[in-house]
Amino acid sequence: MQQGLARPAALAIDATRFWRTIERSAEIGVGRPGGLARVALSDADRQMRDEFCAWCRDAGLAVTVDAVGNLFARRAGREPGLPPVVLGSHLDTQINGGRYDGIVGVLAALEVVRTLNDRAIGTRRPLEIAVWTNEEGARFSPPMVGSAAFAGVHTVDWVHARRADDGATIGDELRRIGYLGEAPVGGRPLDSYFELHIEQGPELHARGVPVGVVTHGYTAHGFIVDVHGETAHTGPWPMDRRRNALVGAAMLAVAVNDIGWKHHATGGKGTAARIHAWPNKPGILSDYAQFTGDVRHDDPAVADAMRAEFMAALADCARRSQCEMAVFDEWHWGADIFDAAMVSLVRDTARALGVPTLDIASQAGHDAYHIAKVAPTAMIFTPCRDGITHNNREHAGLEETVPGINVLLHAALARADR
Ligand SMILES: [Zn+2]
Repeated sequence: MQQGLARPAALAIDATRFWRTIERSAEIGVGRPGGLARVALSDADRQMRDEFCAWCRDAGLAVTVDAVGNLFARRAGREPGLPPVVLGSHLDTQINGGRYDGIVGVLAALEVVRTLNDRAIGTRRPLEIAVWTNEEGARFSPPMVGSAAFAGVHTVDWVHARRADDGATIGDELRRIGYLGEAPVGGRPLDSYFELHIEQGPELHARGVPVGVVTHGYTAHGFIVDVHGETAHTGPWPMDRRRNALVGAAMLAVAVNDIGWKHHATGGKGTAARIHAWPNKPGILSDYAQFTGDVRHDDPAVADAMRAEFMAALADCARRSQCEMAVFDEWHWGADIFDAAMVSLVRDTARALGVPTLDIASQAGHDAYHIAKVAPTAMIFTPCRDGITHNNREHAGLEETVPGINVLLHAALARADR
């Protein structure tokens, strides 16, 4: 037995079975060639959930669904009263999503359980696989809403009331697809949470390193801004009287992009993600628009400064567009949120298995950010080709993914048996 491992390093997942499961998932909610369009609480999401629950029951797991549709598949421990070690991620995708984002983490967790079942290996603490609802926010805003509710950030009623552009609410859609569960949301102790996820950046693939030990997250500040103007005819109405909300929102989009460029040299990002305008028609100026964007930086102080720059720009954009602007919603995440002992466990486990690692920051938001508020949490990154993600060309190779899953297996075992 290698030093630092609770079990022999020869204990390893079944890579072929894992990949077959990934390929089955890739048939559900097919999008652009090679990709998925499995947005949250759609018929495709229901089909994937049904399939996943069937796999879990086949693996002897007890599946529960909570009131925001989060799924938990539990493998009993020898001491059932102890809080579970939870492994999870998400199964929903962006509208032009890939086959791996989130999915690799959930199906890796399933493969960990299947591997333990094959060898009849029990654990002291229960193991649970978690599937969080609406991680992507592609259909319902904000993203990561299921894990946020679990962590007590949002109430169940607030989550249920989130409305998609198609008019449906999360509550309606959970009911429609049969995943409005009865289990309470959160409020129970977890021993710990592991989330394996593709890196969604180029570093691991470029360096040929299979495992990223996620040390912290970029600090992100996001905002939704309401812009109010006034409808008018696009022809006769003079320029100096125009209060075009579409233009106001467009100015915000350019401003946040400029802030990203200003901090580009040190890795800062400024994102204009979405403009919704009304009436948004030819022949008429829009009297309402809503802008969604964010700024991110590895250094929390710089991220805070970028936020301040955006707020200053907002005042300037409001003046120049002659619109009223108000921040409707604001959020932030990131920084040193992960548990030092859990991060060390991931690193030490990889070392004991002989798997090369790279310490790395996460630049994307993840469910783990919310769960870190209520349980000791760590993330494991696996490579994705050229860092391409939120794109149908997203690709993760089996051989470069398997070492990370074996690290997850041994780290979760160590945690569950301690
Ligand atoms: Zn993801």
